[in-house]
Amino acid sequence: MMNLVGNTKEELMEIVKRRVESCATCPLYLHRNNVVVGEGSLDTPIIFVGEGPGEEEDKTGRPFVGRAGQLLDKILESVGLKRNDVYITNVVKCRPPNNRTPTSAEQRACLHFLLAQIEIINPKVIVALGATALNALLGSNYQITKVRGRKFEWKAGIIIFPMFHPSFLLRNPSKAQGSPKWLTWEDIKEVKRMFDEYKGKG
Ligand code: SF4
Repeated sequence: MMNLVGNTKEELMEIVKRRVESCATCPLYLHRNNVVVGEGSLDTPIIFVGEGPGEEEDKTGRPFVGRAGQLLDKILESVGLKRNDVYITNVVKCRPPNNRTPTSAEQRACLHFLLAQIEIINPKVIVALGATALNALLGSNYQITKVRGRKFEWKAGIIIFPMFHPSFLLRNPSKAQGSPKWLTWEDIKEVKRMFDEYKGKG
């Protein structure tokens, strides 16, 4: 783990960024055009964690800017949150070929970067977007369809709050009661409630 003493959050995140940029620990570095480290507020109580960069993210070096990202923006806006109110990142920082799920070995190789980001920001809540983020943080015993909208206490009292990944919502567009989109509306309202509760309570 990094030495956090004597550096600002911005300086520490810059160190993480530089380490990610020079990382060749797993085979995903072979295919990347850009690493995607993360972006948003470093003083936020809430971090969103997805799976990994897609094509647009790999092109731009920014998280959640493709179709799924645009939907995430809309989901946030629906409760009055902006991207910059939260921090957004992924389990792996380099794009898996053809957007396949990163392997367990790739996730393990990259996880220390995410843990460093979490330590720097020190959030109250981590929203795990989809199965990969959920399983990377809590282990493989949980299914996103069963546990979304539940709260799990993680290290240092941080809450893990699983939600559906926006890509899953794009494939399941129904808004009928009980549908993934309908459930996501319930979940994002709870995210906003937690944001309001924790904002400014550092
Ligand atoms: Fe390194 Fe993570 Fe990229 Fe693999 S995915 S090369 S561990 S930064």
